[in-house]
Amino acid sequence: MPQNGFTTTILHSDRLQSVEHGAVHKPIHTSSEYAYADARELAAVFQGKAGFTYGRQGTPTTTALEAKISKMEAGTGTVSFATGMAALAAVFSTLLRKGDHLLSSQYVFGNTNSLLGTLAELGVEVSYVDPTDIAQVRAALRPNTRMVFTETIANPGTQLADLAGIGELCRELNLVYVIDNTLTSPWMFQARSVGASLVMNSLSKYISGHGDALGGSITDTGLYDWSGYANIYDSYRKGPATGWGLLQIKKKGLRDMGGTLSADSAHRIAVGAETLALRMAAHCSNALALARMLQAHPGVARVLYPGLPEHPQYERATQLFGGRYGGLLGIELADGVDCFDFLNRLKIVLMATHLGDTRSLALPAAHTIYYEMGAERRAQMGIADSLIRVSVGIEDQADLLHDFDQALQACLA
Ligand SMILES: *Cc1c(COP(=O)(O)O)cnc(C)c1O
Repeated sequence: MPQNGFTTTILHSDRLQSVEHGAVHKPIHTSSEYAYADARELAAVFQGKAGFTYGRQGTPTTTALEAKISKMEAGTGTVSFATGMAALAAVFSTLLRKGDHLLSSQYVFGNTNSLLGTLAELGVEVSYVDPTDIAQVRAALRPNTRMVFTETIANPGTQLADLAGIGELCRELNLVYVIDNTLTSPWMFQARSVGASLVMNSLSKYISGHGDALGGSITDTGLYDWSGYANIYDSYRKGPATGWGLLQIKKKGLRDMGGTLSADSAHRIAVGAETLALRMAAHCSNALALARMLQAHPGVARVLYPGLPEHPQYERATQLFGGRYGGLLGIELADGVDCFDFLNRLKIVLMATHLGDTRSLALPAAHTIYYEMGAERRAQMGIADSLIRVSVGIEDQADLLHDFDQALQACLA
């Protein structure tokens, strides 16, 4: 981060560029096309000069958001996308080719798991490993491995990858290291600090925070030397090599595949991001209090949360995230407490998918977001049939604890 703190930097980011009429927000630019008075200027922009051509490749509004995200992640550049999935699809499909090997965490977001299946059908070798154990990660590498992918805190099992260990391994072997930072957000964790090459964020989650916009981003940390990466096309080997990877992701992922973030969503995400630090602090403290309460509750068999000392990666989480453990937790209910009955008795908590919203959300994971993948893969990912995934919101803490307690008490009665 620059000299200023996290929130100061985000709040004043737009003003540091030239905002029209002294407006404090970057306007929502709705123009699809950008015209130039001089045809040579138009040609120059097409040939790489900074500027805008067609909205599918970005607008001044998405560019302003990208600048903010680069600051949050301490990166050298960011490309935004219509959703987090569009961002992940762009990274994998533009940087990997048939015959390359991608090593992925076995605990990934369900839709990412499905996307990796599609990639495998197209000829990329994809294999899965337990990323909490560096010995297993090392053993799973192949001569054709090009990229290693993991999330920070897995959803909903809350397993925590050996992020620093994988970073060292990737640096040693010159592999592209991609981290999905969605569950932690750049307020809790900058993936650059463990040597990530690229950082993905679903902007739909904590960064926008209010459940009213979808978006995704890829940030280059500047740590990877793309001059040695075989899959960069000649046309993108322009300028300093630090920019080549992101240029290819932008040209192929936005221009050719078209998963572009709308200016309207970019604006909402930028406004939401202003309070990321305040909201995350509330998510984290509510989740920790709830995890402690539930762990001692007779209606609960097990709580999955990295902030509990019983969590297998508690020490690692404490060290990497500075004593903050995120807003997501898993609850395995006690025998005899039916997960549907329990959820139906919650009064404040919404039964909904999504996470990172200001409101608390809960769902029965095996029966919803992890239904399609089947029982075998669920077992591999540690998802029990009774597992409830909770995205803890920023409600007043006492109200939240009371809501869970009253629902559990009613189920036990
Ligand atoms: C939600 C999520 C995504 C996908 O993001 P969308 O914006 O919903 O497409 C990817 N990874 C993780 C960890 C997520 O939670």
